[in-house]
Amino acid sequence: MNRFAVFDLDDTLVDSTGAVDRWFIELTEQRNLGAAGLDFLRAEQQRPVTPRESFQAIIDRFGFSETPDELRSIFLERVPLLSRTFDGVLDNLRELRARGWRTALLTNGTALDQQPKMRDGLAELFDVVCFADDEPMRKPHPEIFRLVADRADAGLDGAWMIGDSLEYDIAGAAAVGMSTIWISGGRPLPKGEPVPGQVVASVAEAFPLLHAAG
Ligand SMILES: [Mg+2]
Repeated sequence: MNRFAVFDLDDTLVDSTGAVDRWFIELTEQRNLGAAGLDFLRAEQQRPVTPRESFQAIIDRFGFSETPDELRSIFLERVPLLSRTFDGVLDNLRELRARGWRTALLTNGTALDQQPKMRDGLAELFDVVCFADDEPMRKPHPEIFRLVADRADAGLDGAWMIGDSLEYDIAGAAAVGMSTIWISGGRPLPKGEPVPGQVVASVAEAFPLLHAAG
C-alpha cells in the first residue's frame, strides 16, 4: 500500500470560488455598486474571456479609475485573504499524517498567488508543497506529478490524487498511474474521459476513503 496523497488547493482544500464571490460583495459595498452591480460582477465571472478582458469590462461598466492591471492587483491581494479552508481539512490532514501517510500539495499558480490562501498552518501539513507555475511544467503534465513524488521521496504507483478538476487533477494523475478522487462539489460527472476512481461531494468525504485504503 502506497500511503502517499497529493492534494489540489483551489476548490479542493480551500474555498477559492467562494472567496471570489466574497470579494465581489466587498467591492459592491465599498463602491456602492448595488444589487444590479453585484449581479453584473457575478455574470462577468462566468463569461469565457481572459481575466484582463473581464477586468476591463468591470472598469467600463462602473467607470472605475483603475487600469485592468491595477484592478487585478487589488483582486490578487484581497481574494486569498477572503479564502477559507474547508471544514475538517486541517484535522483530517493531521490524522492522515499521524497514520503514516506522506502528503503533498500540488497546485497550478505561483507561490505569490497561492501561498496567501494557505492559512491556519495548512502549509505545514505537507511533506512537499509545489506551486506548478513556478516549475517548468504544470498540471496535467505527467512530469509535474513525478517531480512532486520525487521530492516527497514517494512513488506514484498506487498513490492518490484528490482534486476538483477533471482535466488537471484527475486526467493528469490517472495518466501516471495514480488512484483518483474527484471532488464534485455537487456537479454531475460528465460522460466520457476521464473517469475518476471515486467521486465525493467535498474533501471531508475523501479522507475516510484514504483511511479505508491505507
Ligand atoms: Mg482546483
